Amino acid sequence: MNRETIILGGGLAGLAAGRALTQAGRGVQVLEGADAVGGLARTVARDGFRFDLGGHRFFTHDARVEGFVRELLGDELVTVPRASRIYLRGKWIEYPLRPLGALAGLGPRASAQILLGYARASLARRLRPAPLVSLEDWVVAHFGRPLFELYFRDYSEKVWGIGSRDISAEWMAQRVQGLSLGAAIRHAFLQRGTALPTLVDRFLYPRLGIGSIAERLRAAIERSSSIATGARVVRMRHDGRRIESVSVRRGDREHELRGEAILSTIPLTQIIQALSPHAPVEVRAAAARLRYRDLVIVAVMLRRERATDQTWIYFPGKDVPFGRLHEPTNWSAAMAPPGRTLLATERFCFRGDATWSASDAELIETTAGYLEKLGFIHRREVQDGMVVRIPAAYPLFEVGYRERSRILCDYLARFDNLQLAGRGGLFRYYNMDQAIASGLAAADALLAREGRTPAAVAAGRGR
Ligand SMILES: Cc1cc2nc3c(=O)[nH]c(=O)nc-3n(C[C@H](O)[C@H](O)[C@H](O)COP(=O)(O)OP(=O)(O)OC[C@H]3O[C@@H](n4cnc5c(N)ncnc54)[C@H](O)[C@@H]3O)c2cc1C
Repeated sequence: MNRETIILGGGLAGLAAGRALTQAGRGVQVLEGADAVGGLARTVARDGFRFDLGGHRFFTHDARVEGFVRELLGDELVTVPRASRIYLRGKWIEYPLRPLGALAGLGPRASAQILLGYARASLARRLRPAPLVSLEDWVVAHFGRPLFELYFRDYSEKVWGIGSRDISAEWMAQRVQGLSLGAAIRHAFLQRGTALPTLVDRFLYPRLGIGSIAERLRAAIERSSSIATGARVVRMRHDGRRIESVSVRRGDREHELRGEAILSTIPLTQIIQALSPHAPVEVRAAAARLRYRDLVIVAVMLRRERATDQTWIYFPGKDVPFGRLHEPTNWSAAMAPPGRTLLATERFCFRGDATWSASDAELIETTAGYLEKLGFIHRREVQDGMVVRIPAAYPLFEVGYRERSRILCDYLARFDNLQLAGRGGLFRYYNMDQAIASGLAAADALLAREGRTPAAVAAGRGR
């Protein structure tokens, strides 16, 4: 059946758009390549153990998005007190930091160097302002070189897999969780930055994992419309002004669908690759130079009640293969069977590299080994392990990415019936609330084009 709107991608952006459109009386067909909905914000379950693909806390300043999530999950939401630590050069540092805690963790010498470096950088910025192109330029100018060398250099290179001079300074402007130590130290010592979301000490969480948001959206959409999983978009035929059809592969079969409008949340570069006829050569060249960073989650299920008392623990150094871990039972006790717990670790990588290609058994074995070395577990407590590989987890903000992504978006703007949304779809470092907001905004835009604004629909004046 041909639906009015075809939505590419069943992550939060695509599902939020689908929910808004079906509520407004429109038919949608959601096409999701994976076997389950939720995208990056899904929860994996096995034998009573549950974990997110990296612990996902929900936090927003956007009243519409907060209302949207509360309406879906009101009875299921728990409030979680945040407790995080950073493992830096063999020391544990509490986060968010208090000045005394920071002094104790980093030591008076390192703390004094950081403050001195910060003062020098502030002065230099005032006397000799220079263009800030790379992450290194930005961090050194705003925090000073000692803090850059202590934390930012290794962690950003670990997260992104490229040198900090090749990472765009603009990334810093998009509030990155991984850079929280810098914000925390500034906050701790200088009492600035209290409004940063990274410093919020309580957050909302669905009792059975973040994937509950997508599951509820799925149920709401399926009351009147349809969602296909395991349906990978492979081609989009167009006439230069409109997308005429979308082809999906399910197993070894391909289907062609037609819709009045197409709303895409799949990676921006995939849209360009899928176009038939091909996009011009300069657009394809820009797409070839826009990359995403991939992620491997390794979860270890344990025969014990708890392993830590933390929500997240960060490992910025290159001495530990994972960048972060979380213990889902500290978010909600329902994330493991009684008397059991699990730890989920995040390894940043590129598809096809040594981490991505390592066998599950090898990844579980090395992870358990590091967890034991760090003092969290004993090997004999390991009951099971699970590995999830996630392509395109992060848009990679290399120097020059903005110009390239603009070339792609400008080109795609020619298609009257194509709307872009979402984190990979717009190549933005979105959190869940922003991904949901972008899906809702894309749905608003489609409805407004037909003269059916949400307000008009609510008032019963829709078509
Ligand atoms: C490790 C990690 C931790 C995070 N923690 C937080 C947090 O604590 N709080 C927070 O607010 N946000 C967090 N985020 C960000 C959050 O996950 C995203 O903002 C949000 O899930 C993005 O939703 P989306 O729909 O835009 O994109 P996605 O979730 O990427 O959805 C895109 C969907 O498109 C599908 N797709 C791709 N290609 C195709 C194709 N060819 N055909 C069909 N389907 C396709 C994908 O399978 C996917 O389901 C975190 C992200 C990561 C990676």
